[in-house]
Amino acid sequence: MAKIGIIGGGIIGSAAATWLIDEGHEVTVFERDPGGRPASAGNAGFIAVSQIYPVARRGILSQVPKWLLDPLGPLAVRWRDLPATAPWLTAFAAAATREGEARTMDALAPLGRRCLADHIELGNKARLTGHLRNTGALSVRANRAGLDADMALYGEVAARVDVDYERIGAVAARELVPELEGAFAGAVHLKDFWIVTDPLQVLRHYQGFVRARGTLVEAPVVGVEAGAEGVAIRTGDGASARFDHVLVAAGVWSRRFVRQLGLKVLLAAERGYNTTYADPELKLAMPLIFAGHGFVASPFVDSLRVGGAVEIASPEAPPNFARARAMRTIMRRFVPALPTEGGVEWMGRRPSTPDSLPVVGRHPDDRRILFAFGHGHMGLSYAASTARLVAGMVADVEEVNILKPFDIARFNRGARGARTRR
Ligand SMILES: Cc1cc2nc3c(=O)[nH]c(=O)nc-3n(C[C@H](O)[C@H](O)[C@H](O)COP(=O)(O)OP(=O)(O)OC[C@H]3O[C@@H](n4cnc5c(N)ncnc54)[C@H](O)[C@@H]3O)c2cc1C
Repeated sequence: MAKIGIIGGGIIGSAAATWLIDEGHEVTVFERDPGGRPASAGNAGFIAVSQIYPVARRGILSQVPKWLLDPLGPLAVRWRDLPATAPWLTAFAAAATREGEARTMDALAPLGRRCLADHIELGNKARLTGHLRNTGALSVRANRAGLDADMALYGEVAARVDVDYERIGAVAARELVPELEGAFAGAVHLKDFWIVTDPLQVLRHYQGFVRARGTLVEAPVVGVEAGAEGVAIRTGDGASARFDHVLVAAGVWSRRFVRQLGLKVLLAAERGYNTTYADPELKLAMPLIFAGHGFVASPFVDSLRVGGAVEIASPEAPPNFARARAMRTIMRRFVPALPTEGGVEWMGRRPSTPDSLPVVGRHPDDRRILFAFGHGHMGLSYAASTARLVAGMVADVEEVNILKPFDIARFNRGARGARTRR
């Protein structure tokens, strides 16, 4: 049994903690705001087996100028933050190649193939069942070119993971979701598509499991230091505790700890916006993906959430909720019954790398220090599989082939001199 400290109690930290507790370890999660609503609480709730493709895709670069001129478009950059985000944006642009896409899809395919089974197993460990619903989903497209692009994309996905998809016309799409009363060309029906009952409930359940069977410390971590006696986590109140292993799982805020540990990473806040309607009259039978506009609609058990978009900005910059409004306006073109009143707006920060691959692995010089962050658009989907991978590392039976593309070494090649390895 090992003593493990985890920095961050979002879905990645909480899922890893749950898996490790179940394997008999003594786990302490440090979370500065356990009642907060980070990305893990407000996301779209997809367990998206099929979404193994990166954000940086070939077609995206030609669209960028148009999007950037539209301040409320699907992709935006906060110009004031450009000096800080430029290296990330440069690497993002460089990743948008056929080879880059293939590399990311090949690396994420093992997670796509197993993420659902791992979620079921994680749920069983924490006595959570019934939280995963197989609803199917529609990727709704305004025009034929969009449909063609979707079909080509899912063809590439299907070469790597099992995905059952079909191109259908607008009439057939309306049979599945009658509320799609606006004009559109058709949709791709993703038949095997899963959504959680509510991401906030799922997060709170795993945090509750940690409280009951491990320790959840409400405190901001300010430092992590490796020493001969263990790896120390220091909190804002000056307290310090030592562990056999420390896992950095603080979402986009992991950057600070990576720096403290002598490493580099390109990690940006890809901020997203949404609106959640509690107990809505509008009940969609399945999620809708408006890929041409960069947002989705998620029907949860007792709410409807509409949102998405990407805004590259400092994590702490003030939110611009006009983005949430803009997505509601576009959705009404497709679903006129979307309410014009009510709804709670939210902004969250996806912890994103330029190649859309998470950082999951060990510190190259110290096997006791582990990383699990940077899951971008897919952190809920891959949380349980990440937890399994982390537990494998702690048990020294790591799945080397799966982990290799997620290694933090990809950001640190040639930059570091020889060091003492632990
Ligand atoms: C609009 C939107 C829609 C999305 N939809 C989906 C989806 O449908 N499916 C999917 O798979 N993914 C989705 N995602 C992505 C997913 O939500 C994220 O990838 C995931 O939540 C990241 O989890 P995390 O635990 O790494 O980070 P976070 O949720 O950001 O959690 C990090 C935690 O670390 C804590 N922390 C930070 N610094 C410190 C510190 N110094 N000390 C202590 N604690 C600290 C924070 O308080 C926070 O609780 C979406 C994201 C957004 C924004």
